[in-house]
Amino acid sequence: MIVMKFGGTSTQDAQAQSNVAGIVLANLSKTPVVVISAIAQATNVLERAGKLAEQGNVEEANQTLDQLAERHYRILDTNISHKERRASVRVIIEQSLNELKELVRGVAILRELTPRTLDALYCYGELLSSRLIAATCQERGIDAVWLDTKDFMITEAIHNRALPIMEIVQEKLTALALPLIQQGKVIVTQGFIGVTQHGNRTTMGRESSDYSATIIGAALQVENIQIWTDVDGILTSDPRVVASPKKVKTMLPAEAFELSYFGAKVLHPNTMLPALEKSIPVYIYNSRRPHLSGTRVASDAFSKPMVKSVAYKRGVVVVTISPRRRLGQYIFWEHVYHVLTKHSVEATVTVSSEFNVAICFEAKNTLDAVIHDLATVGNVTTLEGKGIICLVGYGIRTQPECLSRTFNALSGMQISLLSFGASESSITIVMDDADIFEAVKKLHHEFFEKGHDDEVFEILEHFQAPQ
Ligand code: ADP
Ligand code: ASP
Ligand code: MG
Repeated sequence: MIVMKFGGTSTQDAQAQSNVAGIVLANLSKTPVVVISAIAQATNVLERAGKLAEQGNVEEANQTLDQLAERHYRILDTNISHKERRASVRVIIEQSLNELKELVRGVAILRELTPRTLDALYCYGELLSSRLIAATCQERGIDAVWLDTKDFMITEAIHNRALPIMEIVQEKLTALALPLIQQGKVIVTQGFIGVTQHGNRTTMGRESSDYSATIIGAALQVENIQIWTDVDGILTSDPRVVASPKKVKTMLPAEAFELSYFGAKVLHPNTMLPALEKSIPVYIYNSRRPHLSGTRVASDAFSKPMVKSVAYKRGVVVVTISPRRRLGQYIFWEHVYHVLTKHSVEATVTVSSEFNVAICFEAKNTLDAVIHDLATVGNVTTLEGKGIICLVGYGIRTQPECLSRTFNALSGMQISLLSFGASESSITIVMDDADIFEAVKKLHHEFFEKGHDDEVFEILEHFQAPQ
């Protein structure tokens, strides 16, 4: 059994969805369970409709929803010719549109878009896209059944960033899915969305369908988990930034984790965790070029110590706290971490000296309250407009030349913070946000454009940067 997850660009229109059905068909002998994302941009559109409604602009919100429904009807009309099948999915799209408009009306009346309501809006993206994919698979003769995550993906009641309750997910999913799979059916379900124990829809964070795939794969103990996207695999850096990325053939889970944690969009940061726990390999494939070999992420991956990829994160704030009184260091740190726990904010990078602690936060967090509370612990200074670059590769801690090559490549550029040694697999550098792209390009040139190791990297066939 395998899990195949298809992202938004792989489901964005009729052609893409038809492609997905073709890929599923070609893999039937592996007993696939299919996990589907909303069609490209649908989640953003649903969020926009919610925000418009919150401002009282129901008319524009409804127009936005009508346009989104239209994209789904177009896929339906192009891909589904079986009369009853087409009619039944049409009714579901119509009903969903009505429900969405009711939600929007409610938001507009209250002028309040709560995280719970946002989840109620978000879930329609994945629900509709997975309905269309299931129907498209049926058109191709695949015995596909649509399964609603509300029947198994039980999460904690934290909206917009819920975490699954793995034991319950495993129990419910195996009870539901295994009998269907034994009958030869292909399950088609949703990424991103879950449900609380009380039946309210949740979501697991933007872009988290990859995470859904590994949760489902771990629960069903599948042989491997396949993430189908719009690039040939994990690349040496973001193909939107560097002109000639290479493919990384294999990676260790720890490397893929660091890469996603530090911003490489190709995988959601939580993706590797369930797969790692159950030692399940994860493959990244291009749904537009399914014949290519992709990237394999597994614990037995080839692991010569070297830099394998460069990730970056923009929009970072560095907050430095120094104690006003000479408290014991451990007391001071405890006070600092207590504030982070209280506000549930994550420190992306932390560097400390004898007393000072410098912490990088993502600027999208609302930091005013955090900074206010940190100011009761010590003197706080804040540096905005920063970004983080992360060089990823297992064992680079043991390769001092990585540091000298990094400094050479970045010579003349201002570095605000550096962390080397805390992680086996990464060097993190904090610098001005405005310099991030240039620095990524320079580092890419230094580590990947002066030649490469064929065992680890591969030149991309007909590379085109994704749109
Ligand atoms: P999906 O909709 O399939 O989930 P995403 O847009 O979330 O796809 O992720 C794929 C994108 O990740 C690629 O189009 C690419 O621009 C971006 N990306 C950033 N860093 C990397 C990297 N190191 N390797 C591959 N892709 C990357
Ligand atoms: N559709 C969701 C999003 O855009 C989840 C995903 O695609 O991974 O955030
Ligand atoms: Mg994604």
